[in-house]
This record gives sequence, C-alpha cells and structure tokens, in this order.
Amino acid sequence: MDSLRKLLNLAIVMLAVAGIVAGQNPVRDYRRAHERQILDEFTRLLSIPNIASDRENIRRNSQFILEMMQRRGLHPQLLEAKSKDTPPAVYGEWKIAGATQSVILYAHYDGQPVDVKAWTASPPFKPTWRSGRFDLGGKIVELPIPLTSPTGITSMPDAVWIDPEWRIYARGASDDKAGVMGILTAFDALKAQGATPSFNIKFLFEGEEEAGSPHLGEIIDLHKELLQSDAWIICDGPVHQSGRKEVVFGARGDQNVDVTVYGPKRPLHSGHYGNWAPNPAMVLAHLLASMKDESGRVTIAGWYEGVEPLGDAERRAIAEAPAYDDQIRAELGLAKTEGNGKPLMEMINQPSLNINGISSGDVGALARNVIPTTATTVLDLRLVKGNDYKKQFEHLIDHIKGQGFLVIDHEPGDAERQEHALIAKVTARAGGYNAERTPMDLPISVAVINAVQLTSKDPIVKLPTSGGSLPLSIITSRLQTVTISVPIANYDNNQHAENENLRLQNLWDGIETLAAVMMMKRN
Ligand SMILES: [Zn+2]
Repeated sequence: MDSLRKLLNLAIVMLAVAGIVAGQNPVRDYRRAHERQILDEFTRLLSIPNIASDRENIRRNSQFILEMMQRRGLHPQLLEAKSKDTPPAVYGEWKIAGATQSVILYAHYDGQPVDVKAWTASPPFKPTWRSGRFDLGGKIVELPIPLTSPTGITSMPDAVWIDPEWRIYARGASDDKAGVMGILTAFDALKAQGATPSFNIKFLFEGEEEAGSPHLGEIIDLHKELLQSDAWIICDGPVHQSGRKEVVFGARGDQNVDVTVYGPKRPLHSGHYGNWAPNPAMVLAHLLASMKDESGRVTIAGWYEGVEPLGDAERRAIAEAPAYDDQIRAELGLAKTEGNGKPLMEMINQPSLNINGISSGDVGALARNVIPTTATTVLDLRLVKGNDYKKQFEHLIDHIKGQGFLVIDHEPGDAERQEHALIAKVTARAGGYNAERTPMDLPISVAVINAVQLTSKDPIVKLPTSGGSLPLSIITSRLQTVTISVPIANYDNNQHAENENLRLQNLWDGIETLAAVMMMKRN
C-alpha cells in the first residue's frame, strides 16, 4: 500500500513537471498537437522517388516542397540552373521587419540511388513504420488513427500517443528529407506562437546534393542576392553517436582516385607462368602497403603538409565530446583502431587515405588459376582544412613514382610496357574539393551553439569537423558567409545504404533544435 502511494505521488510529481515543461515549451506543445499532420505530410513527401538522375520524379519533389512552402506563406520559388533539365533548388523566405541580418536554413531533398532488392525493411519509396530498428527486430506498425475520416473530417485526437522510438523506413527519411520536414515544421511552430526571430530566415532545399551538387555553384551565381546571408545552417547528417545534439563547424574535403597496375597483356595459366610472370594484384598490394605504416599513418611525403592546427576552442570541444570509442569499437568488432588508440574525433581532423575497393581476377565461384592482367583500386583521399585536393593528388603521384612506377593517365602502349617493369595508370575523379571549417569562436558560431544548447539538458557536442564530406566551399567561395551544420538524424540511420530510416524522436528533437536556431540571438 505504502509503495503504491509512493508510486502515485511520484506519478503526480512527474505529471506536474511535465506540465511545467509543456507550458514552457511552445514548440514541443505545437508538435504534440500536430504529430499526425506532420507525419502525414512527411509520409507523402517520402513517397516521391528522389534520385537526382530521375528528372521527372525529382521535379515532383520540388513541386511538392514548393506547395508545402506556399501553404506556409513563404513566397517560394524554384531556383533553376541555366540548363532547365537539372533539379531545381526550392527557395523561400520569412522576412522579419527590422532585421538586418539573415540566415539560410539548408537541406537537400534528393537521395542516394537505391538497390531495391536490398531494401528488406520497406520498399524505398513506400514509407513504412516499424516499432524499432528493423535489424534488431522492429515490427511493422501503423500510425494509430487515420488523419482524415471516411467522411472527410480531419480528426486530431490529442490523446493518441505515437511511440517516439518508432522509425520510418524510406529513402531520404533521414538524409535529408528529415531536414526539409524539420525546418518547415520548426517554422510552423514558431509562426503559431507569433514568435519573431531577430534574423531574416531564408530556406534553401537543394535537389542534387547526393549527385555531388554539380549545379549548386551555378544556382548561387545566378541568385546571389537571394542567397547571401550571414550564415548557412546546414541541416544534414546524423547527430553524435552518443545520441547528444551536435553542432559541426566543418566537413572534410574529398578526392577519389583510380589506380590500375599492369601484369601480362593476356591472362596466363598460373601453373605454367606463376613465379615468372609478375602478378598485378601482388604489385598493387606492395604499392598500397607502401602508403601507410602499421599504425595507419600515411607515409606519403607531404601528406600532412599545411594542415591547419585546431584552435583552443576546437581542441576544448573535442576534449569535452563524450567518449564513445570503446562502444563503437565493440559494436563494430574492432580489437584495435588506427592512430595508436587516438580517439576518432581527433583522427578525423587529419587527412586520410582509404582504399574504397580493390579488384583483380575473380574470387568465389568464378575463381580460376590465372595470373590476371590488371589490378585496380579506387582510393579515397579525405582532406582537412589547409590541404589542397589537387596538391594531395600530386603527392600521391610523386609517391607512386618514388616506388619505381611509370605513372600515366592512359592505357599503356607496347613501348611503355617493354621499357617499364612497373606501370600505374592514375587518374583523379571529377568532383574533388577542399575541406571547410568555420572558427568556433565567431559570434555567429557562439549564437548557434547557445541556441542548440538551450534545447538540450545534456551538454551538446561541438565538432570542428565532420568525418564525412560536403562541398561547403561551393558556398563559401561564392558568398561572404560561413557554414555551420546542425544535424538531426539518428546516427544509426543507414543513410546512403538500404533500409534508411529515421527515429521519430530525432525528428521531434530536431524540430526544437531548428526552431531554436531560427530564434537565436544576434550578438
Ligand atoms: Zn545528406
């Protein structure tokens, strides 16, 4: 009996606390009252296939988002590149009387291509709710009550509770239609309470980020005045692995490189010629092994040259970030990591060299006793502030030459083959770019940090750079502005892969985060 009374008391206290919190958090209140509406609109957005090369459907997406913004009175327009056959960006604005500064909230509505067969949790464009993570047993669930009754009356029962651990599976659920939905819902919540930001708020939703943003620069050049602002807030990517909210001040640059080395001109019987004809797979293995030492440090001369050291604010932020390396190591089955045990956060502030894949001959059912003719690899050069993607490529070429190779950019001819024992064809893929990093102690940086912190009881994570890459220099090289990333998706969202998903609580938290950023105080 006593324990029952205690429980009842506890319940009353909890309800009181919840009441206080509810009263103080109009954005959350708005969301709670409109969950079904929000999810209904989100589901419809996710149902439109969004691969950038699928021009017809990508147009449907841009039109849908245009209408979402029209309904909200954001005066949207499609920003087209010169060639009208490219995915347009959707732009809108919330003009604030008397505001002299502005921020742009950016997200992208296109997604990575899909391998439909691999999507086991849901078809990629048939958004499906599950009670939790699919690979951990999450079952298909339905949202509790239809939004619109058969008589056409829209019902919004506020007693209906949707489990925030539910996840919606669809391409773009987290990367990055969650950004579009989070931003526009944050606007709704602020508008409903009559809030007045101190910045003009602009919105930009890009339609070909996953294709490498080939026209973003052109779109910016054509609409410079519209797109000029004091900061671009990039809402893309996952929050910290610890689940804490996160603000990221940069992204690594990237350059992909193809390397092919050569063996005999035709495949040879490995018994008749093995030990005599050089094997290109072995040659490539030696070459690649020469590029990194045992600890994972790149041994290519000049690789770390020019890397801009982190400032005090950046180093402090890394030290304050929650330690989760052990957890991730265990999750991934890694007994040892590169960098002599240095934390991941520190290592992503260094340029890297990764082998994306290697191919030579066949394995599995197709394996044969042959000496293959070529061995190929794709290298992924991640860059940090201070690196130059063209120079990094040159360092790589110099290193390969230093290993005794003739480096060429074409298939070798007979004369070249006869003269050179070692030949490597090395070509840089199009689309390389440099890293970007906004200082964490700028007034606008501090304003964003403070705004996001206000929405979280845990200390937020501040990162000088993300490990991944974004072509942020496309923006900063054209406009007098800085970029700051405020991601909202769950870290285990399978972005870019099959079964991409968004955890509902992350969308709910993200709405509050983005509303706070829109309401941040000018310094
Ligand atoms: Zn993205």
